Amino acid sequence: MKVFKNKINDIINPELKKLVNDRLDNTGTIVIISHVNPDGDALGSSLALWHYLKSTGRDAVVIMPNQYPDFLKWLPGSDDILFFSKSKSAARAIQNAGVIFLLDFNSPGRADKAGELITESNAFKILIDHHPNPADFADLVISDTLASSTAELIFRFIETTGNPDLIDDISGTCLYTGMMSDTGSFNYNSSRPETFRVLSELLKRGIDKDFIYSMVYDNYSVNRMRLLGYCLDKKMVVLPEYKTAYISLTLEEKKNYKYIRGDAEGFVNYPLSIKGIVFSAFFMENDDHVKLSFRSKGNFDTNIFAENNFDGGGHVNASGGESKLGLQETIDNFVSLLPKYIRKKRFG
Ligand code: 5GP
Ligand code: MN
Repeated sequence: MKVFKNKINDIINPELKKLVNDRLDNTGTIVIISHVNPDGDALGSSLALWHYLKSTGRDAVVIMPNQYPDFLKWLPGSDDILFFSKSKSAARAIQNAGVIFLLDFNSPGRADKAGELITESNAFKILIDHHPNPADFADLVISDTLASSTAELIFRFIETTGNPDLIDDISGTCLYTGMMSDTGSFNYNSSRPETFRVLSELLKRGIDKDFIYSMVYDNYSVNRMRLLGYCLDKKMVVLPEYKTAYISLTLEEKKNYKYIRGDAEGFVNYPLSIKGIVFSAFFMENDDHVKLSFRSKGNFDTNIFAENNFDGGGHVNASGGESKLGLQETIDNFVSLLPKYIRKKRFG
């Protein structure tokens, strides 16, 4: 049975509950996997589901394609995560799984090398996600682009197929982290009452939202703060004619600031605070590719821009991609694309 519906409310029915529970009750270890370069929502939604499944007496394991940033290391359960890039047991777990949850991504490629094993696997695959246009690679698809985050969808999934009383302050903390991360602390993608209903349910379970905020956003290193200052002062290029600004970072600059994974998280958002700027890009030079991040205000589809030009995708206002060209060539290419997109789209 395949269910392709856009809103979780449309698929909440006794049939779904029975289908999910039949599968979960008749399987060995359940695998939960999310996307490469995991963020707060990837980790938060996966760990919350893991805590929940364990509380129902089920056996589950969380796999991430690669390492997550240091500022998420405090999340309860993060020490038990297996990394596909490092551990052979992660691959074995996927091969042996009867049920695989695919969280916060919409195509096998986003799980990096683990994507091949996922595609090959005969497990019952349950995709829960809020990115547009999920590829056809799961048996049950719960895809709601209006949801703030996958974490929000996990709460509603448990409410409708399981026992929400088993969501406690531990799994609630993971869910809140996911919702907070994907909404810029409830500044975007979070205007629906449903999001705040879920948040209120989490608060009832005793989560400490101020503590969570502080653990994620007040835990930066001195190096990161100085790198941010450097990027805004010396590296931000503003193109007012295109209502665009971008920041780039070279390997050498990363070395100078003793860059570690996650240190540039959120930098791409800063240019959007400038009056009149509606499109922002961040270019990060890595050993073998340039990683791009895009953000917009209003109706400019950064995900389509990313998909058409940089082998990427994501949400309308937040997306990313990659380039195999050098850093400067990538930037030149980006700038050369702007006139075309501005002519095509009503920008801002
Ligand atoms: P970030 O800029 O924080 O890395 O990513 C923002 C959003 O874009 C996330 O929703 C993420 O899933 C998506 N994204 C980032 N990089 C890529 C990519 O290379 N391919 C695709 N399809 N999505 C991406
Ligand atoms: Mn997400």
